[in-house]
Amino acid sequence: MKKKYFYDIHCHVFNLSHPNFMAFIQRFNLPGLLFLNSLPVIGFFFSLFLNEKLANITNLLSIMDNDLGDYLLAMEEKDLLPLLKNGKLYVGAEPYDRFVLTPLMMDFGAKGNNTYPNIWYNKMPHKAIKNQAIDLFNGIRDYQKKSSHHLLEIYPFLGVNTRNYNMESKDGHVGLVDLLNKYFSDYSSENIGLRHKKLHSRMGDFDGNIDHLSNYAFAGIKVYPPLGFDPWPGDNPEELEKVRYLYGFCQDRMIPMTTHCGGVGFSSVNSGMYKKLVSPLKWKKVLENGFPELKLNLAHFGGSLNTLFIDEKMAQIVDLILNPSYENVYTDFSYLCFNEKDYEKLKNLIQRLSKGSKSNKERIFSRLLFGSDFMINLLNAHSYQEYASSFLNSSAFSEGPIDYRSSFCSKNSERFLF
Ligand SMILES: [Zn+2]
Repeated sequence: MKKKYFYDIHCHVFNLSHPNFMAFIQRFNLPGLLFLNSLPVIGFFFSLFLNEKLANITNLLSIMDNDLGDYLLAMEEKDLLPLLKNGKLYVGAEPYDRFVLTPLMMDFGAKGNNTYPNIWYNKMPHKAIKNQAIDLFNGIRDYQKKSSHHLLEIYPFLGVNTRNYNMESKDGHVGLVDLLNKYFSDYSSENIGLRHKKLHSRMGDFDGNIDHLSNYAFAGIKVYPPLGFDPWPGDNPEELEKVRYLYGFCQDRMIPMTTHCGGVGFSSVNSGMYKKLVSPLKWKKVLENGFPELKLNLAHFGGSLNTLFIDEKMAQIVDLILNPSYENVYTDFSYLCFNEKDYEKLKNLIQRLSKGSKSNKERIFSRLLFGSDFMINLLNAHSYQEYASSFLNSSAFSEGPIDYRSSFCSKNSERFLF
């Protein structure tokens, strides 16, 4: 019988050496929390809150202290295996045989002279994405070798910041054209089964030399505007040419692209710039200006479940999804739903954004993707298992005989990914 796949379309597999560590811990506000924790008199409930936050951060740093093979094995053995029944993962009555992860690489290698504020050794190190890729593919290979269950299939997304590339290769620096050709030149709009098969046949096939990686090593592309990637740099012809090339390349070959779109995140730009760069309106420009068929996942669905004032990014994403010209716009709800209350809120918001129309609601449901944002989600969850369980146990999206969760974790993701 045909295997069935559960997809986590948004997770991260990197270790402590990959991000700019100082900026990374600032993202957790660790210095602030430690300072508060050192105050002699703080309220009882506040100290409980602080202890929980610090415990979460310790847990997060601990998983990131592993090499990536052990990181993946921990996800399989400690988090997922206990959730299986008779060797299968159940979403309602629906059994799944395998668990597909698409780790999103991030290009932390900011060019230019960034510095950290307020410290003596303030030069931000250059973090080459190449090293992250090598560690990730070594990790996938080691997982393949060591796992006795082979529950996971792992298809990374290549992190690209066009600002860090010239169009053409020059003086030993690889250009955007060559980069994309190296990894994606053979991609076409092949059928779902075929692309999956090709990716699977390459999984774990790595000899440690990145020059030997090529087509079907990566399943898609990740861009991350808070690190300076501008999705539509309308006032900068040189940068615009590069992003146009990237979108055209991906659209022609149906290569999926995920972008950070909402909430907070690791950032190297000021808050005004951050707001501008993560706006879905930037992507509206992309879709309008020649790339209406781009396969796009606007991650985090705007990033807020505020039911009092609907987040404007969430509303803008829904506008794009409901636009009949755009058949390939998706959104994942990673780092958004940690418990049943959150899923109820999400359902409530979608109901309101559908404006009472059943076909609107069904269209939104057909573009939602399950994602975890692991290991970042450990800031709010104790484990991958806990985060996944709240989805597996949720009843918010069951309507009579229909359980929309199987669209979010499987059907939609399969269409997006392959
Ligand atoms: Zn993420």
